[in-house]
Amino acid sequence: MSDLKSIECDLCIIGSGLAGMAAALFAAARGLSVVQMGHTGEIIFASGLLDLLGVHPVSEKRLWSDPWAAIDALVRDIPHHPYARLKKEDIKAAFDEILAFLEETGLTYHRNIDRNTGVLTSLGTVKTTYAVPHTMWKGVRALKEKSDCLIVDIRGLKGFSGRQIVAAFENEWSHLRSARISFPDSDHLNEMYTEHMANALLLPYNREKLAGVVQPLVKESSIVGLPAILGLYQTHEVISHLEELVGIPIFEIPTIPPSVPGLRLKEAFERGLRLKGVQYFSLTRALQVRQTAAGHFETQIGRDVVEHIVDSRGVILASGRFIGGGLHADRTHIRETILDSRGHLINQAGLAIDDAFRPLADSGGPAFESLFAAGSILAHNDWKRVKCGAGLAIATAFGAVNAFVRLCR
Ligand SMILES: Cc1cc2nc3c(=O)[nH]c(=O)nc-3n(C[C@H](O)[C@H](O)[C@H](O)COP(=O)(O)OP(=O)(O)OC[C@H]3O[C@@H](n4cnc5c(N)ncnc54)[C@H](O)[C@@H]3O)c2cc1C
Repeated sequence: MSDLKSIECDLCIIGSGLAGMAAALFAAARGLSVVQMGHTGEIIFASGLLDLLGVHPVSEKRLWSDPWAAIDALVRDIPHHPYARLKKEDIKAAFDEILAFLEETGLTYHRNIDRNTGVLTSLGTVKTTYAVPHTMWKGVRALKEKSDCLIVDIRGLKGFSGRQIVAAFENEWSHLRSARISFPDSDHLNEMYTEHMANALLLPYNREKLAGVVQPLVKESSIVGLPAILGLYQTHEVISHLEELVGIPIFEIPTIPPSVPGLRLKEAFERGLRLKGVQYFSLTRALQVRQTAAGHFETQIGRDVVEHIVDSRGVILASGRFIGGGLHADRTHIRETILDSRGHLINQAGLAIDDAFRPLADSGGPAFESLFAAGSILAHNDWKRVKCGAGLAIATAFGAVNAFVRLCR
């Protein structure tokens, strides 16, 4: 191990879920050298929709159309929520920066700056979210205006039934119809996977075949909704080609996990961050982190054994909760898995932090001058039920990176 040469950088980011990716982007954009590591994280399971805040309080299941007013209410009621450590302008700036970056990579998102948006789901429910992939955006209007809409589902694809969607809206959307098709050249398959179909649609030949099956079903419909399979990448090209062939607008409906829009996000971040100089070790874990006499951090990383040592001036812990592996629960305790031995406070299943996003020690002060945390690992958040997953990841990554720049640069 002592033969290993250290990789030196300003910031070591542990985790490559949405919080780790966002932190790597913010750090690279501020001129910092970055080493990042992790497994895929929850990003590929996510719908691709970026929530800011949809529900509060959870007990009343109150839905908010204005996410900023919802944040005011949340912070008033839960003063230790991570959003309370950020100004609303910072959260807005964080979203602007992320969405501009995704646009650069070809992954366009749309939103109403001051309003949440309702998106049709594969269960026939409406999900309240904030930023919506361009592939789903036309469906937002169709849902709102209850347009003449055809939902097409695919034989063999689990968890997506056009008939169920139509049934869920039977009293309020009379011009909603469904049809089932076989995906081209798949009659011999019992099960269909969104990723395979999205990959197949990268070829114009397959798009022509799909359009050939869908087009005769359109009849009086003015828009078609399909499961989220319209290209693993190059979605603008795939959708406009299909629209040209079918003759009317087309939109995607999010599917159950793992999802193609989640894969697109992961791929866009990985590709875009590489171009910005982030050194990324995929499928690699931080095995141990310790502080050196010089006040730096030494992070041992590898798959099973130590393969590299990262010497950094700061660390951002974006290692997620239980699925990601940042938190572990046994019968008696919940613990943070990487720096557990330092004993920072765990509160409400997550890390307690100060205003600079630094995990706290037992004393109540920061455990380390330049150790920061971001994302779902933070205490006092209930992202799933309040619908703030992506917003929390993006906004707290923004807060943590800016705090590092302010305090440690
Ligand atoms: C099924 C599902 C649906 C979702 N849908 C939505 C949605 O519609 N809208 C929305 O906004 N959000 C949604 N989310 C949430 C969102 O995708 C993120 O999960 C959430 O924002 C938390 O991100 P995170 O980066 O904090 O954690 P995670 O995504 O869990 O990432 C944690 C990262 O830390 C890494 N890690 C852990 N331990 C180590 C270690 N020792 N060394 C190195 N790396 C380590 C993991 O490998 C992983 O890369 C959904 C999530 C799931 C699971």
